Amino acid sequence: MDINKTAGMPRIVIIGGGFAGINLAKKLKNKPVEVLMLDKHNYHTFQPLLYQVAMGAIEADSIGFPVRRIFTNQKNFAFNLAEVKTINPEKNTITADIGEIAYDYLVIATGANTNFFGNKEIEHYTMPMKNISEALNIRSFMLQNLEKAVVTTDQKEKDALMTFVVVGGGPTGVELSGALAEMRNKVLCKDYPSLCEEDMRVYLVEGKPVVLGAMSATASAAAKAGLLKMGVTIYNGVHVQSYNGCELKIDDGTVIETRNVFWAAGVMGEMPEGLTNGTITNGKRILVDEINRVQGYQNIFAIGDVSAMITTERPNGIPGMAQGAIQTGQHLAKNLMHIINGEPTVPFKYWDKGSLATIGQNKAVADIWKLHFHGFFAWLLWMFVHLMSLMGFSNKLSVLVSWASKYLTRNTDNRLIVRFFNTETRMTDPVSK
Ligand SMILES: Cc1cc2nc3c(=O)[nH]c(=O)nc-3n(C[C@H](O)[C@H](O)[C@H](O)COP(=O)(O)OP(=O)(O)OC[C@H]3O[C@@H](n4cnc5c(N)ncnc54)[C@H](O)[C@@H]3O)c2cc1C
Repeated sequence: MDINKTAGMPRIVIIGGGFAGINLAKKLKNKPVEVLMLDKHNYHTFQPLLYQVAMGAIEADSIGFPVRRIFTNQKNFAFNLAEVKTINPEKNTITADIGEIAYDYLVIATGANTNFFGNKEIEHYTMPMKNISEALNIRSFMLQNLEKAVVTTDQKEKDALMTFVVVGGGPTGVELSGALAEMRNKVLCKDYPSLCEEDMRVYLVEGKPVVLGAMSATASAAAKAGLLKMGVTIYNGVHVQSYNGCELKIDDGTVIETRNVFWAAGVMGEMPEGLTNGTITNGKRILVDEINRVQGYQNIFAIGDVSAMITTERPNGIPGMAQGAIQTGQHLAKNLMHIINGEPTVPFKYWDKGSLATIGQNKAVADIWKLHFHGFFAWLLWMFVHLMSLMGFSNKLSVLVSWASKYLTRNTDNRLIVRFFNTETRMTDPVSK
């Protein structure tokens, strides 16, 4: 399939090979349509395990899977590595860095990016974690700072290098702060004999009065108790005001001197330009109707994290989780075929399968329908679900082996500084520090 549309079957162009885009394209297998997927990465990322890459617990490659490999046996599918810059609805085309591409139906499945709420200083100095590169940046940055802490003779600087702050107490923040505490408790003294556990501090800062606010009260209380037991200091009901690379100021007057701030406090839709302003709602998401059609357009759709299907039942839209993306993608495939065949469409209904979050080894929380449980069984369930959801047999095996090794040795093997993170330019640098 060429990027220039050929006459014949209707062409569906999908921007984004995340959970939403992949599941939509798979459901269009053997249907009389041309499917063209564009993504700025040539792989699909399993974001729920990014924090384990950041902490050196698993290999980076094991949470990515090449898009072309997923669709080897799908004849009506083509992929191009491309970043889409603009949508041109009046011409039914999109403009990407590889050229202009025509569509009959366009599906925006571009996901979400980190929201720094317009604060440029925070954006510059804190570390986000939305993709594999950013997770690897965190890994390098954290390990570089520990190496600096080993050699510095300035006690104040050593304290700042060994103070870790995670901002945002959702699942990502809870998992990241738990993993940092685990590293302090189990790995630090073994690998860095001159540093001691008491020197490393882990803070979690969350604006809501609880952590894991979107989960049940049981889950959030168990997560908080678990983190406190592991030695994480939690600030609830407060907001970060500023961070200049050294001092983190919180709105209750607290100032934390730290060189390590990880930002997991918010997300916003990521999308190319070109849609009219009225179609964008809070969280910079695209307003869609009950069949994921973008409001005001006939042949443009949005699915997954970038979309907002606001209903009376769900005034904030479908939760920004893998299940929402998978289900909207699969359902849209059916509706696109209905539209193409001139049949009535079927409104989307979200099936909430539950939520899981891990706090550390042997500790997780789970809300499955009306059941709430935590501890070892929730942890086993968390591992099983994540392992099964990973794409590719070799990825599953690689993660399983890393987890087994971590369980048995109480240590992790992927703590490599492959590329230095340059703290001035905030970019990775193959040669200098
Ligand atoms: C750290 C982290 C932990 C998470 N943990 C969980 C969890 O435990 N459980 C859970 O259910 N959910 C979790 N989520 C949320 C879940 O990963 C998302 O809800 C899901 O990935 C959304 O799928 P999507 O297809 O909408 O977007 P994504 O998976 O983000 O995919 C979007 C794709 O679009 C591509 N793209 C973006 N812009 C362009 C462009 N202009 N041109 C070309 N390509 C573009 C991107 O490269 C990407 O491949 C987590 C997310 C993060 C970041």
